[in-house]
Amino acid sequence: MPASQIISLLREYHQAVVGSSKAAQRRSELSPGSSRARVTTANAQWGRAAEGRDIAADRLFDGLQASQYHCPDCGSQDLTCGTRKLSDKRNVWWISCSVCHTEGSDAASISAALREYNSGSTS
Ligand SMILES: [Zn+2]
Repeated sequence: MPASQIISLLREYHQAVVGSSKAAQRRSELSPGSSRARVTTANAQWGRAAEGRDIAADRLFDGLQASQYHCPDCGSQDLTCGTRKLSDKRNVWWISCSVCHTEGSDAASISAALREYNSGSTS
């Protein structure tokens, strides 16, 4: 699987994570007096968002397994991607191994994080 495809799967997953945490927040912010209809709607939106996130995670996992990327330490293709926002609002990304937990450095994009992760490869 080409890197561009992995990157779009990672983006998709990241958007799904953001979407499902927003839906969870909206659901938790409902006031105790909310109508049954509003509660049902919020529950349904949250459920759909969580399902979308799980599907995106599965697709990403399959994509990484089919890619040339692997852990520089143990060689596993069971990789995940983390992201966080810096205080200046920029996102940074890093790749980590689900088996031995070797983490790459922060990078400005997912593709840079993947390149960085595999640049130390010995195999
Ligand atoms: Zn590893």
